[in-house]
Amino acid sequence: MNLVTLLYLLASVCFIQALKGLSHPASSRQGNAFGMLGMALAVGTTLALIWSLAQAEQAALGVTRVLAGLVLGGALGTVMAKRVQMTKMPELVAFMHSMVGLAAVAIAIAIVLEPQAFGLGALAGLIPTGNRLELALGTLVGAVTFSGSVVAFGKLSGKYKFRLFQGAPVVFSGQHMLNLLLGILALICVIAFTLNQHYWAFAILIILAFILGVTLIIPIGGADMPVVVSMLNSYSGWAAAGIGFSLNNAMLIIAGSLVGSSGAILSYIMCKAMNRSFFNVLLGGFGASATQDAGAAQQEARPVKAGSAEDAAFMMSNAESVIIVPGYGLAVARAQHALKELTDKLDAQGVQVRYAIHPVAGRMPGHMNVLLAEAEMPYEQVFEMDDINSEFGQTDVVLVLGANDVVNPAAKQDPASPIAGMPILEAYKARTVIVNKRSMAAGYAGLDNELFYMDKTMMVFGDAKKVIEDMLKAL
Ligand code: NDP
Repeated sequence: MNLVTLLYLLASVCFIQALKGLSHPASSRQGNAFGMLGMALAVGTTLALIWSLAQAEQAALGVTRVLAGLVLGGALGTVMAKRVQMTKMPELVAFMHSMVGLAAVAIAIAIVLEPQAFGLGALAGLIPTGNRLELALGTLVGAVTFSGSVVAFGKLSGKYKFRLFQGAPVVFSGQHMLNLLLGILALICVIAFTLNQHYWAFAILIILAFILGVTLIIPIGGADMPVVVSMLNSYSGWAAAGIGFSLNNAMLIIAGSLVGSSGAILSYIMCKAMNRSFFNVLLGGFGASATQDAGAAQQEARPVKAGSAEDAAFMMSNAESVIIVPGYGLAVARAQHALKELTDKLDAQGVQVRYAIHPVAGRMPGHMNVLLAEAEMPYEQVFEMDDINSEFGQTDVVLVLGANDVVNPAAKQDPASPIAGMPILEAYKARTVIVNKRSMAAGYAGLDNELFYMDKTMMVFGDAKKVIEDMLKAL
């Protein structure tokens, strides 16, 4: 048993190293390797444990079942991960969380139905009070995570006609009261199950928690889903940790807590980078259609200075320093490899090229870092917002590629703007600004962008990949 604890501890250390590695692009591969090693150790140890504890026949059955799950889940995961586009990653993550939540509920049901099989309830199936509380809470959080993540998945994919899966918030009168009522009823069930092991309370708890997951997430707009996904990620970790306590499994407790706390920290970072309180996100409404319409109406009336990719290439090749601001549009266009070529060419001409990364550029944290790393952009050229913002004032040309909100000066200059106070990349301070996007359409927050109308700004319209390739030809 001590050896098992030691191996689980080793696996946990690997998971901590994985998180540490994943915090920087340069060490992220190593972080992933640590994560895989930790998971292999955890699964291997669990398999060995099943093999050694049970009688020969049961052991074979147990190991076969675990292996079948591994092969099936592993194959499915590999296919999905290989197929998914970078812009669709939040959807995949939402789907994964729903599975973690469902797994937590399934394990809890198994423990409640057959506690002896898990080393609990030796006295006529009576589960100790403390374990009952852990199981009830783990089930509550797991079931909310499952149904909430399914709704988040539907909203993010935007493929389904079903009303609950639409990006627009689903609101109705008395919604908060309903959530409150569901929450109170669920807590009553938790207490009833904890005190008396009432099976009906456990069953009703599962149903209530599934409903609560749906009613909590439907009022939140599709645009806020990445923050919600990160929050659900945190929930799924806590659900696993709760079940870990019931099973007295150190591995589940540590891994669950790591997922729980890192998800919570990520949600906090995202809210801070969008200058919104967590509460504000949960109430929904950001980027609602009213602001989009207002932005669109303004856009039609105002003239902008437009230029060609050749003009842009000429301006950049004559500059001493260029800062490139990548955004969601770059990911949509899959233009990262062409961009690498452009950077190399400018480098060869003696132009200093750097990248400025906003914490929420794209559709998930680190989106732009992953994109640039994929094209093997040198890490020393890639700067975080706080490290590069002071440089824009001394920069000749800023090239904004498929980014919008993260360079919108309204965040700093217009206290009435919905994004007022959101930290931005201060591209507007550069001597010249080149903006590439396909049209004058608004970005994610549905707002017009003053940067596009400034005298120093030249708009280059077109798909980012095509525009970059044209710049390359001109260079
Ligand atoms: P935005 O969505 O603000 O802007 C992207 C721009 O790219 C659009 O205006 C679009 O304009 C343009 N675009 C789309 N496709 C292409 C293409 N093929 N070629 C060229 N341009 C294209 O993205 P940002 O990255 O600036 O900002 C991210 C936003 O997402 C922020 O509001 C942030 O708060 C939010 N967000 C980010 C999260 C994260 O973790 N990263 C999480 C939650 C929210 P057009 O249609 O005219 O081409």
